[in-house]
Amino acid sequence: MGIWQDIFAAKIADVHLTEPWMLQEDDTLQVHVLKRGWKEFVQRRALGRFQCSQCFHEWSSAKVHILFHMCRSRRRGQGTVRMRAFRQACRRCPDPQLAEPEFSQETVERLLHNLVLKILKYFYHMPIQPSDLLEVVVDAPVAGPHDSARCEGCQLGVCSESQLAPVSDAWEPLVDADKARTYLTPKRRGMRPYATQTHQPSSFNSNFPWKCCCIIISPLLCVLAVLLFILLYFTEK
Ligand SMILES: [Zn+2]
Ligand SMILES: [Zn+2]
Repeated sequence: MGIWQDIFAAKIADVHLTEPWMLQEDDTLQVHVLKRGWKEFVQRRALGRFQCSQCFHEWSSAKVHILFHMCRSRRRGQGTVRMRAFRQACRRCPDPQLAEPEFSQETVERLLHNLVLKILKYFYHMPIQPSDLLEVVVDAPVAGPHDSARCEGCQLGVCSESQLAPVSDAWEPLVDADKARTYLTPKRRGMRPYATQTHQPSSFNSNFPWKCCCIIISPLLCVLAVLLFILLYFTEK
């Protein structure tokens, strides 16, 4: 949780809020169950990773939901955010424990960016457009159906509300390439991030220098066209 709080504090400072805001974990939060003055923000479809504590099976899901409840106390001049990330159960174990999701640092940054925008909108009346919110599926795409029977969010009715916007999801084992990233879990036992060292992911799609290729190929095509013209011109004669 420490890293989450650090990033959250930095984001609050970035938007120049002078009132202090606190972020706490609360596993008892319920969707749409709010006290007076509290506001709700559900960040849907974040990409998270899970590991079973019994068989150590690992999987990823692009349908991890994080629930935030927030409140600003004008009297005390401070704000409070409570958060709950919904867990998933291992499909290989007959009687599995629910596993806590872990998120890459980039996902945490985006989640908290969106949270801060919601705070500005709800409590400081700043105009925030839906397009200002960032996508939180920032990692490798996963394919496959969402396993509702093993999803805490589905059991509590959070997932069903987001059925209209289909996003690929899976219960596949981790791809080696993705392990090079750092994952953060909000739980205390995982307060500090851990990184696993494996080879870097293939970066053909993202880093291929298309611009350079165009710059080189266009003049070549022009030269080729001129040569072809000269050749045809002389063969006609
Ligand atoms: Zn398991
Ligand atoms: Zn679900």
